[in-house]
Amino acid sequence: IPKAADFGEPLVRVEGARYEYGTDEVAVDEVDFTVHEGEVHAVIGGNGAGKTTFSKLLAGLFEPTAGTVSVDGDSTEGRTARNVAETVGIALQNPDEQLSEQTVEAELRFPLEKRQYEKTGLLGLSKRERYDKEFIDSRVEDVRRLVGLDEEQLDEDPMFLPRGQRRQVNMASALMPDPDVLVLDEPVAGVDATAHRHVEQTISRLTDQGKGVVVIDHDMDFVCEVADTITVLDDGSIAMQGPTKEVFDRDNWEWLTSRHLLPPRPARLARQVGIEALTADEFVEQFAS
Ligand code: ADP
Repeated sequence: IPKAADFGEPLVRVEGARYEYGTDEVAVDEVDFTVHEGEVHAVIGGNGAGKTTFSKLLAGLFEPTAGTVSVDGDSTEGRTARNVAETVGIALQNPDEQLSEQTVEAELRFPLEKRQYEKTGLLGLSKRERYDKEFIDSRVEDVRRLVGLDEEQLDEDPMFLPRGQRRQVNMASALMPDPDVLVLDEPVAGVDATAHRHVEQTISRLTDQGKGVVVIDHDMDFVCEVADTITVLDDGSIAMQGPTKEVFDRDNWEWLTSRHLLPPRPARLARQVGIEALTADEFVEQFAS
C-alpha cells in the first residue's frame, strides 16, 4: 500500500480550504489535501459533493473563502489564475469551455503566446511573454506526443473533433506551460476506448516525469486503475482520505455505495457470482507468501 512517503516533494498543499457560493452555499469546507511529485491523487464523491469547486480552488480559478492553497510552498493568495496555471494546469469537465481557436495547433500555442496577455490585459505577469516561436514550436511537438495527438490533427478545428480528442486538446493546452500538477475533471467521461487509453498513458508519462496528477471523478473503475491516493468528499467535507486500497476496503463498500460510488467492477463481479472479494491484506496473506 503506497504511503505518502513513497512520493516526492509536495507540489500543491491545501489547508483548511472553504469555498462559499454567495452567503449560505458552502460547497467546500475544511479540506486538507496534498499532491506530491509522482502521485496520482483522485478526488471522488457523489453529485454536489464539491469536486468541481475543489478542482477550481486547486487551479487558482477560485480563491478560497478561508484556508490556503499553496503551490511549491507559496500561497496562491492574490495570484491570478493565469499565473497559477504555470504550476497547476487544469482540463475542465466540459472540453468546449476551454476551446477558443480555429485549429488544434493554435489552441496549443495560445497559452504561451503574448497576445493572450494583450487580449486579457494581464501584461507583465509572466516569464512566458518571453517565449519565442522556436520554443513554442518545440513545446507543441513535445506536448502533442505526450497526450497522443497525431501530427495531422494539429490542422483540424478542435470544435469538430470527437469529444475524446477535444479532451486530449484540453490536456495538451493545459500542459503547454509545463505545470508541475495537472488537474483532470472527469477525463474519461463519454470518451471512446482509444481516448481513454491516451488519458491513462498521459497520466503515467506525467508521473514518470515526477509531475503530480489530480483526477476528479466518480468513475470508480478508472479511479481504481490510476489513483495512488483517494480523497472522498461528502457534502463539501472530507469523508475518507488515504491509499486507494484502504479507501476501497470491503468495510467501506456499503458507505461508498450509499453515495453512488460503486466499488470497482472486479469486486462487484466477485460479489455477484457469490465469491467474497478479498481485502488487500487477505490477498497478500493468501498469494504473496
Ligand atoms: P460536484 O462537482 O461534486 O458535483 P460542485 O462543486 O459542482 O459538486 O457543487 C458543490 C455544491 O455547490 C453543490 O451544492 C452545488 O449546488 C453548489 N454550487 C455549485 N456551483 C454553484 C454556483 N455557481 N452557484 C451556487 N452554488 C453552486
